[in-house]
Amino acid sequence: MYDALIIGLGCAGYTAAIYTARYKLSTFIVGAEEGGLGMTAAEVGNWPGNIDITGPDLMENFKKHALSFDAVTHKIARVKSVEKVAGGFQLTLDGGETVQGKTVIFAMGSNKRHLGAPGEKEFSGKGVTYCATCDAFFYKGKDVAVLGGGDAAVEGAAIAAQVAKKVYLIHRRNEFRAEPYWVDKVKARENVVFVLERNVVEILGDQKVKAVKLDKPFEGSDTITLDGVFIEIGATPATEIPKALGCAVDQRGFLTVNGAQQTTVPGVFGAGDITTASNFFAQFTTAAGEGAVAANSVFNYVSTAGAKMPA
Ligand SMILES: Cc1cc2nc3c(=O)[nH]c(=O)nc-3n(C[C@H](O)[C@H](O)[C@H](O)COP(=O)(O)OP(=O)(O)OC[C@H]3O[C@@H](n4cnc5c(N)ncnc54)[C@H](O)[C@@H]3O)c2cc1C
Repeated sequence: MYDALIIGLGCAGYTAAIYTARYKLSTFIVGAEEGGLGMTAAEVGNWPGNIDITGPDLMENFKKHALSFDAVTHKIARVKSVEKVAGGFQLTLDGGETVQGKTVIFAMGSNKRHLGAPGEKEFSGKGVTYCATCDAFFYKGKDVAVLGGGDAAVEGAAIAAQVAKKVYLIHRRNEFRAEPYWVDKVKARENVVFVLERNVVEILGDQKVKAVKLDKPFEGSDTITLDGVFIEIGATPATEIPKALGCAVDQRGFLTVNGAQQTTVPGVFGAGDITTASNFFAQFTTAAGEGAVAANSVFNYVSTAGAKMPA
């Protein structure tokens, strides 16, 4: 039985693993995808100590650091379920393998939100994708739309504008929630067309995407002809597995944790974008900080059998 089971190979999970390993706790870290959301950040300008680094390079550094410890066992696999067993918890992986540990840290981040419009499912992977910064480079010289007004949408539009002929940034409001840094970048691009106070109500095409239909006309038409649609309208926390284990979540589905990153189930902790911590400020620095605190709590829990944990 491992001391710590960590689910998530992103910023929070890897940071937690670095700390549990340095506490000499045997650690099993598993995730469906290497690097998590950080892999989609084209440019990270706020990771202290690195003025400019790409998300994939930053995540590679995290991975190398965590896996440099003998105490850490690493696996790429989707976790299907987590249940209580005598002395701790058991993970069941997609292939049926089971792994047991005294504690669990949920660091599973979030899942991209879907639009729910007709055509979205049909053309998913045929022009509709959920990561502008990852997929923009397949649309060199083409016309695309990015849907949304947060960081992912606005950064995505700025990156897409480097290669696409035209980028329609379609947002339901007339102001952006994104960091001013990215808003300025996107405003500086001549090939970005701002389609504000409009919603996409349908995605049209035959074999692949050909156009989007809007709820209100834009420049005299309610359809925009294009080749690709990047849906960047937010994300929901990946809390299905913690909920099934009995962990409380808030009204929006975030994993409820206290200042020690402890969930409502003793021995179970949370870190990163999945949690209610850090005032919901979902960033690399906050995910890393929460991962460190969760690991410290695991150390306290394992070394005192839970006796020293705050309520
Ligand atoms: C385009 C973009 C740009 C960004 N730029 C910045 C930036 O410049 N600066 C900044 O500070 N932040 C930035 N962010 C935010 C930052 O990337 C996130 O806050 C951070 O990566 C969250 O880390 P995490 O470890 O909590 O979750 P994630 O990185 O989402 O990791 C979740 C992990 O859990 C795994 N997982 C989920 N479910 C399961 C399951 N059932 N079984 C197994 N594994 C599972 C996933 O595969 C993944 O490995 C950006 C985000 C985006 C989208």
